Amino acid sequence: MKLLFEKSVPGRRCTMLPECDVPVVTPSEHHTRNIELRLPELAETDIARHYSALERRAHGVNNGFYPLGSCTMKYNPRINEAVASLPGFSQIHPLQPDNTAQGSLEVMYLANQYLGELTGMDEMSFQPAAGAHGELTCIMLFKRYHEAMGHTERKKIIIPDSAHGTNPATAVMCGMKVINIPSGEDGCVDLDKLRSVVGEDTAGLMLTNPNTLGIFEKDILEITKIVHDAGGLVFYDGANLNPIMGVIRPGDMGFDCVHLNLHKTFSTPHGGGGPGSGAIGCKKFLTPYLPKPRIKEKDGIYSRDFHGPQSIGKVKSFYGNFLITLRALTYVVTLGREGITQSAKNAVLNANYMMKRLGECYEIINKGICMHEFVITMEKEAKEYGVTAMDIAKALIDRGIHPPTMYFPLIVQEALMVEPTETEGKETLDEAADILIEIYKKGIAHPEEIHGLPKTTPIGRPDELKAARHPILRYVRE
Ligand SMILES: *Cc1c(COP(=O)(O)O)cnc(C)c1O
Repeated sequence: MKLLFEKSVPGRRCTMLPECDVPVVTPSEHHTRNIELRLPELAETDIARHYSALERRAHGVNNGFYPLGSCTMKYNPRINEAVASLPGFSQIHPLQPDNTAQGSLEVMYLANQYLGELTGMDEMSFQPAAGAHGELTCIMLFKRYHEAMGHTERKKIIIPDSAHGTNPATAVMCGMKVINIPSGEDGCVDLDKLRSVVGEDTAGLMLTNPNTLGIFEKDILEITKIVHDAGGLVFYDGANLNPIMGVIRPGDMGFDCVHLNLHKTFSTPHGGGGPGSGAIGCKKFLTPYLPKPRIKEKDGIYSRDFHGPQSIGKVKSFYGNFLITLRALTYVVTLGREGITQSAKNAVLNANYMMKRLGECYEIINKGICMHEFVITMEKEAKEYGVTAMDIAKALIDRGIHPPTMYFPLIVQEALMVEPTETEGKETLDEAADILIEIYKKGIAHPEEIHGLPKTTPIGRPDELKAARHPILRYVRE
């Protein structure tokens, strides 16, 4: 496929501008560029076709099944987009006075109440721009709290090895020391290990639940108690609230702070590094440290409260990605109490259905019931037949299915992590399971054939390491 620069024809344009009817001002030499501005010159048709062709090469949830584990690539109802594009919301300026922005302030206030209710937290902040950013904000709250209590020696954050990789990164960014604890046989936190590492230097624990194996931490109440008894705080990584929303609440399980990925669970389209929102919630005793401004309501009037001497300050300009908060609120109110719960149950049902079907030939790591996702290992097949997780993932592309998450979590060899999501019907799940089983059987019978797949894409098997370490992201013109 040619780049726009290569399709460029000198002098070709999309527009015909009228004659200039204002005085021409020539800027000083200091303000003008001294090298030619080289932009592609194209007609509108060329541009439209170019981007449509690019779009056809991408796989989105509108094209087909997208079981990318830990990412929740579910279908996002169109109504969220319709609401987010209403000019009253999309054309607003963050510096407008409060009395001209009542609707938007109310959105933030309501989102705070609804998501606070869903998580069991007393107040939310929508400033963080991504999940990892939300985690960071929560651990900053922990740090500020311990400082305020005069406990500056609390500098250790305990993180189970089944946590999301962003958890340890967050703790280190906050100047904390990470204490890693291995999981037990069942893939859950080993309580004795936990008891042996908590102490007077414990700042807190970060728990990904369901953990990255898609398992619900069965001793969750005991876990939060052990950490609290030692004087530490507990953070809930709720990026994947899908399987529990409307069913149970982190706040009721003893957590002090939670972050949500609004761009996963709460229905904002994501991927490709687009805008996200890592909304956070906390218990009342942590609210003085929240980023400011906080949104207040009095007699039906909404306002921004910039007061907050103990606040950690801002973590993002203005109010975070406001339209994502709006989408999340739309999602929650359109689904309602029953819809939210049903959605969580379907996420779990779909994952378990798929896990059972694939268990026919694939080795599943999860024992018993999984939550919204499960993990397959191809370790044995890789050793015996040379058929790897990568082979299965690549073969799926030819069949119109996006590969599952590969080689994650790191604690499983040759991992494939499957998350069907709640928005898929049984027919889609059956079709995908049939295809996965067929690929497996063919792969084992003729490993050499599967190594050559996919055949339908412009590039089949790029050098993954080189692509990640030395990507060529800039077009160099001769
Ligand atoms: C996706 C995810 C994150 C990180 O979210 P980003 O928005 O990518 O920063 C953190 N924890 C868990 C469990 C996740 O699945």
